[in-house]
Amino acid sequence: MENVDYPGRWKRCRAFMEAQDIDLLALTPGPNMTYMTGFLETPGERLLTALFPRDGEPRMVVPALYEEQVHREGWIGDVRAWKDGDDQAAFLLEQMSDAAGLVNVALDTRMWARFVLMFHRALPGALLQDAEGLMQELRIVKGPEEISILRRAHEATDRAMAAVVESLEEGQVERDVANTIRNALMAAGADAASFRPIAASGPNGSQPHYRFGDRVLRRGDAVVLDFGGMFAGYYTDVTRTVFLGKADDTQRKVYELVKEANERAVDAARAGTPAEEVDREARRVITDGGYGDHFIHRTGHGIGLEVHEEPYIVEGSKRPLEEGMAFSVEPGIYLPDRFGVRIENIVLVEDGRARRLDRYPRDLQVISS
Ligand code: ZN
Ligand code: ZN
Repeated sequence: MENVDYPGRWKRCRAFMEAQDIDLLALTPGPNMTYMTGFLETPGERLLTALFPRDGEPRMVVPALYEEQVHREGWIGDVRAWKDGDDQAAFLLEQMSDAAGLVNVALDTRMWARFVLMFHRALPGALLQDAEGLMQELRIVKGPEEISILRRAHEATDRAMAAVVESLEEGQVERDVANTIRNALMAAGADAASFRPIAASGPNGSQPHYRFGDRVLRRGDAVVLDFGGMFAGYYTDVTRTVFLGKADDTQRKVYELVKEANERAVDAARAGTPAEEVDREARRVITDGGYGDHFIHRTGHGIGLEVHEEPYIVEGSKRPLEEGMAFSVEPGIYLPDRFGVRIENIVLVEDGRARRLDRYPRDLQVISS
């Protein structure tokens, strides 16, 4: 990624390692590796790791087929490549010869067991621990370069949402809507969908993570559309619920309640406010409206190089919100066998208060066909 101060990130990381007495950090392909090295890849069966010794310089151990790519995309100059057919564990052991005697070693939470075991054998006596706390702390506040990607990514996702809502009509199958979502995301510039899209119509909408199936969309359906894309490694995640042909009184009442919960929660999300207060605010609106038992998940989650990351907007999280945090506000009401409504915005804490990154309208929409 351009304009990223990777050595600056390594410096911050090293300070955290010192504070937590971690001698070595080992990362695996995924969000943490992308954050620290600039190299973006999905995990595979070949050993590929970035090593950050607190008292040394970072190095990467990679399969030979990635050597050029790691040099081009990443900033770490010390790249050690092994070839297919080599003994990966023995190669790692050689690269770790100067690490013998290290005590506290933090491994990427996403590292596969086979690689964890290689580290375990290469570093006898070391205390292996989960690097997740350290990495989430580094990533929880977004830098200016990350904010500009998230901003553009959500503008693009707005365009995708507009295209998807525009194309909705009775008689379509949920699966077709899911395909429209994927195509709209790609057309808007996404590298991939963030996750399997949700196009939940009618009674299917009462399952918050239902994806899509073969149900045919009918007049009077509430349709929950929840999707996002990956842009330069960063994710988007937005939800709107629209009605086909008509919306009855219950649907309207539920919709307005969810909308109010969303708005009150976004208003409550200020720098310094504990995350759980935002969840309480959304929950209060829905509970006062008589649907408290039907709001069956937390109000939100952080977003960035992962779709779900810190800070979580949930009861019990006393973590004060800070400038530069990005997270979802997504209250919902789910009525089994009937319908569901969710409205999800991604907000950024900026100048003390939460501002929405996605701007597609939230007003109740009945699509006529
Ligand atoms: Zn979502
Ligand atoms: Zn979400």
